[in-house]
This record gives sequence, C-alpha cells and structure tokens, in this order.
Amino acid sequence: MKTIFKVWLGVALGIFACPTFAAINVFACEPEWGALAQELGGNKVSVFSATTAKQDPHRVEARPSLIARIRSADLVICSGSELEVGWLPLLFTQSGNDRIQPGSPGFIEASQLVVRLEVPKVVDRSLGDIHPAGNPHVHLDPRNIAKVASVITARLAEIDHANGAAYKERADSFDKRWQQAIQKWQQRAQPLKGEPVDVYHKDLSYFINWAGMREAGSLEPKPGIPPTPTHLAELVERMKRNPAKVVVYSPYNDPRAAEFLGQRANIPSVLLPFTVGGTEKAKDLFGLFDDTIERLLATVK
Ligand SMILES: [Zn+2]
Repeated sequence: MKTIFKVWLGVALGIFACPTFAAINVFACEPEWGALAQELGGNKVSVFSATTAKQDPHRVEARPSLIARIRSADLVICSGSELEVGWLPLLFTQSGNDRIQPGSPGFIEASQLVVRLEVPKVVDRSLGDIHPAGNPHVHLDPRNIAKVASVITARLAEIDHANGAAYKERADSFDKRWQQAIQKWQQRAQPLKGEPVDVYHKDLSYFINWAGMREAGSLEPKPGIPPTPTHLAELVERMKRNPAKVVVYSPYNDPRAAEFLGQRANIPSVLLPFTVGGTEKAKDLFGLFDDTIERLLATVK
C-alpha cells in the first residue's frame, strides 16, 4: 500500500510541478523556419508550417485553415521582406491574436536579422519585381540560420520563462552541431567556387553568395515574372558568350523551362531542394545543405 501511495504521490506532484504544460504553438510561414523552431524547441513546441517545399511562398491563399492556425499561435516566424505580402497581412488582421502581430515578441521576420542581398536602389513595381525590399530567401546561407536561431531561442525563453534553461541548452547543442556542419560544408563546397549557374527564380542568391558561385542568368526575366520565349532565346544567346555549368530550379518551379535551357545550352538541369522537404534527402536543415551541395558538386566535376 505504502509503495502505491508513493507512486501516486509522485505522479500527482509531477502533474502539479508543471500545471500549465502546453507546447508553444509555432506558426512558420516557410518549412525552413518550422524546421529550425523544431530543432530549438524540441518537445516544448508544436510546429505548423503554412507552406510546403512544393508551394511557391510568394503565392499562397490566405485560406480559413491558415487563419485558424495563426489564431492559436504563440510565435510566428516568416522570411519577411515582402515575401508573404500577398497573404500574411490578411492572416494577421483575421487572427484576432495580439501576441503575434508585427512588432510584438511573438513575431520574427528572419530577413530583418541578416544582411539582405539585392536591395534595389530604386523600386519600380511596374516591372513586376516581387523582391522590392531585397531578396527575402535568406535561409540558404547557413550563417543566416545561426543568426535567426539565436533570436528564436530568445523569444521562446521570453514566451515560456519556465523552460528558459532548457531552450538555452538545446540552442547550445544545435549551434555546436551547426558550426561543425558549416565547416564541413565549406570544405565540401570548395569545388563550387567561381562556378557559373543559371537559376530559375532568384531564390538561391544567398547560397550562391556563401559558396562563392556566380549567377550567370535567371529564367525569370524579373523575379516573379514567368520565363517567356523571348527571354529564353536571349538567355540561350547569352550563354554562348557567358556559359553556365548548370541550370537549377526549385520544387515549386515548372521544370520545363529549365529543361529547355539545359537542352539548348547542353548543360544539366538540376532540381535543388530549396527548403526542408524539397527532396528526399532534405529531411531537415542539415540534409537541406548536404543535398544542395552534393547535387551541385555532381554537375561541376
Ligand atoms: Zn522570391
């Protein structure tokens, strides 16, 4: 009897010790931020990603299921710099949730935490450019992931004081593994230095910059404007003078334009994962960089 009582008491105290146990609801606009929040929050977070690798993050419908999710969110993490301008503002106004509005601790705009590339001196929206605030696809520089990670950790601890030490511990562990991985990737990506690459959309700029590659052209005449026959013909011409080693595209792009250019220019067209879930090997952030580098290495040998 005594033993049973002790067990019962232990269970009861265990419950009372964490009476308000509930996971922090994280709403990530893109899969990479969801994956990062999961790394840092472990079982103390419940992560929802509004988009998958197969979806164009610029073009998302603010559907009721997303509104329902953001309503109960404690922390929203997005790329920002107008990447989600077509849908996120509507979700914010419909959410009725003060905790996650822009400017509050429950909202993180990743691109504001790093040095942005391709910030235009003059914005001319009439040209259809969907990167008017600079390039928002900041996650493909692994150093940017580390910067955003430290802010996510601080916010998790701010929202959930009780578990502050646990978040710090997880963050230290992640950072150690991530820095080691960056060193490995730097070594591995050496042969990519200086290699010219054609992209579909300008969503690889941070990776190209980090790896020291060179963007020779893009299939879209302007970010967000689909490839046209005229532009593709120009690219084929330009590639005669300024050849690229490979033309890459992301899971949310139509591969046909990349395949067309690849055939005309006699270079491989290669799918890169772009984000977590984009290829089978890109199961997490580590796999995302592993697979991106390996797929590119296979084309420059
Ligand atoms: Zn874009």
